[in-house]
Amino acid sequence: MIPYGRQEISEADIEAVCRVLRSDYLTQGPVVPAFEQAVADYCGAKEAVAVNSATSALHIACMALDVGPGDWLWTSPNTFVASANCARYCGASVDFVDINPKTYNLCPEKLESKLKLAKASKRLPKVVVPVHFAGQPCDMLRVHELAQQYGFSVIEDASHAIGSSYDGIPVGSCTHSDITIFSFHPVKIITSGEGGMALSNNSQIINRMKRLRSHGITSDPSLMQSRPESEIWNYQQIELGLNYRLTDISAALGRSQLPRLDDFVARRRVIARRYDQLLHNLPITTPWQLPGTASSYHLYPVCVDEGTAGISQRYLYASLRRGGVAANLHYIPVHRQPYYEQLGFREGDFPEAERFHRKAISLPVFPALGAEQQQVVVNCIKEALVP
Ligand SMILES: *Cc1c(COP(=O)(O)O)cnc(C)c1O
Repeated sequence: MIPYGRQEISEADIEAVCRVLRSDYLTQGPVVPAFEQAVADYCGAKEAVAVNSATSALHIACMALDVGPGDWLWTSPNTFVASANCARYCGASVDFVDINPKTYNLCPEKLESKLKLAKASKRLPKVVVPVHFAGQPCDMLRVHELAQQYGFSVIEDASHAIGSSYDGIPVGSCTHSDITIFSFHPVKIITSGEGGMALSNNSQIINRMKRLRSHGITSDPSLMQSRPESEIWNYQQIELGLNYRLTDISAALGRSQLPRLDDFVARRRVIARRYDQLLHNLPITTPWQLPGTASSYHLYPVCVDEGTAGISQRYLYASLRRGGVAANLHYIPVHRQPYYEQLGFREGDFPEAERFHRKAISLPVFPALGAEQQQVVVNCIKEALVP
């Protein structure tokens, strides 16, 4: 089977992990801060906090912005469930903004009209989480303007988009947001096994996230309550945090991968361009790119419209599987998940995301995908389209 995504591990990566295993620290050693610094420098952000997953990063990002009961977080329905769940962990409510049918990202115009209504009913969101679906950056300038106007914070879920850029600026710079989060799960652009990171240009937010990553504990005397001179207090827990730490073992893998990020993304772009060309004359829709953005192509979603193509998405999906191509689906709209339906969402609430889900198939994209393998994928599609 040709998988839809696959990590690429070098001998240098293996050596970097082994070096940690032979060292004094398996966790909370020197490699985590070195990895954080390297990612922050790459993106042009002030600082970064490494954690054990992007899900954890989203959670502490919400906590650092004081998201809690009574608050609303809005995100795209076309995403992985973690983009919405972070609000639920904090006891806050979730709502969605439907996608733009061309970019498949949260639609800024729909966001604006929803904000107008929310303002009238005094239910404005505290946080909006734009998701850079497939690696294509959301229209962040528009989202940022609306954030200024309506007073909400912005967390970019850039799980798909390390290595992407918007207006020539790397995703992760936090130019148009309060916090950006990355995932280092093996199917993502670079990996640390499991892992994630939250970046910000706001030192207060960074310090808070660092504390929340490790139980809410501080060893900064200026933050501690005074206690009798006779007692030793080398740390204090000043709020409720978690253990979301990344190990040095994982950080070593991520840090070793980072210098190859540009190469990984360049190869993904070559693959995407080749699909663009090979699929050009077929009755399926290839991904449209918002001008001014450069995608890392975590995914290459194509859309099959039964009316135009003469075959259903389901049929093409099965044909690809039969032909040895493990194509995938991204995403079942989050509001259609049973957990979210129990909260009151139902089919029809976000029609563009639902339409996309009924048409889209993610074709294999990963750096080592060869031209011959790509031809296998394209031949499968062509055969399925023959009446
Ligand atoms: C993968 C992913 C996450 C979660 O990442 P983990 O590191 O697995 O927790 C969150 N959001 C999106 C959009 C993702 O694709």
